[in-house]
Amino acid sequence: MMEIPSRKQIIEEIRDRGDRVAAVLPIHYPRALLRAYGICPVEIWGPPGVDPAAGNSHFQAYTCAIVRHATSLLVGPAAQSVDLILVPHTCDALQGMGSVLRDFIEPEQPVVTLYHPRGRRDSDKAFLVRELKRLAGELGEITGKNPGEAGLMKAIDIEEEATQLLADLCGDRKTFGLSDREFYALVRSREYLPAEQFIELARTVPKDGSGHSGVALMLSGIVPEPMDVFDRINEVGAWVIDDDLACGSRRAYIPTSGSDPFERLAESLLSMPPCPTVGSPISERARYLCDRMKASGARGMLVYDVKFCEPELFDLPLLREELDTAGIPLLHVEYEMGSAVSQQALTRIEAFVEMLQ
Ligand code: SF4
Repeated sequence: MMEIPSRKQIIEEIRDRGDRVAAVLPIHYPRALLRAYGICPVEIWGPPGVDPAAGNSHFQAYTCAIVRHATSLLVGPAAQSVDLILVPHTCDALQGMGSVLRDFIEPEQPVVTLYHPRGRRDSDKAFLVRELKRLAGELGEITGKNPGEAGLMKAIDIEEEATQLLADLCGDRKTFGLSDREFYALVRSREYLPAEQFIELARTVPKDGSGHSGVALMLSGIVPEPMDVFDRINEVGAWVIDDDLACGSRRAYIPTSGSDPFERLAESLLSMPPCPTVGSPISERARYLCDRMKASGARGMLVYDVKFCEPELFDLPLLREELDTAGIPLLHVEYEMGSAVSQQALTRIEAFVEMLQ
């Protein structure tokens, strides 16, 4: 497989060709809309290597590390390479971050938001279409561009092609001959690679999955950090056969058709698999996950979550109950966003894998 370029390399390439860079917070957002306005999204899911002190000063101690680390990053020198900040209303913590950025920190770059509906009714879709048009208006003012319907459609088509490849990868993990760490480095490159580059990389993945061994797990949560966690999981005799990660398969949106680009963008965003951050009913999510685990052959679910993630914690008790009824063991491990996986987390994961053997 080709080497995956780093975020830094990609940001430099984007700026060299005269496009704009948007720092985008998790999770769901209309990538194609940004692209149509000449803006390339580079997502921020922490990251672990940032000193959170600057972010800590703006939030309560029980705010998740993604918000505190991302805020630190955006008030530091790295923000100089960013032209715009997009904060979707994924959860109360990110809504708070959007307000802190706009009302207190007031960065040089414009800060735009996107509110998600919490249902799947026609009125929810109509609300999302209005939100997307409002966001498009703001992007037009910031960039001075108007891509028109044709420009939007073109951007949607290429982004949906890349999304389909991501869905194919996540949907059939066991057939791909990459280690867990390599595989999820590829999946996570969708966070910042332009669609064309992601498509090119995804098409080169070797299709020989015969080397996987150990206890097959489904990995759930927002984002697995640090990426060493995959090596540690392998070391204790397990591997990740499937995922329910917000940075992974929860963004396997379904391809759309039709002649109205805003309707397509809204339909796509509303087609994500069940996700606690958009208020999916827990029973629906549990059914979906049980079916997926049975189909993949996963023996247990490891929920590996950044500490203080409210939407994830809210689902957990009922999810555990439903999986328990279906005979599927679940282990929940919370982590601090740092450079190493804690010994305590490792011991619990090891004991869980032993129990499943
Ligand atoms: S980790 Fe959870 S609480 Fe934090 S930004 Fe993501 S969804 Fe929100």
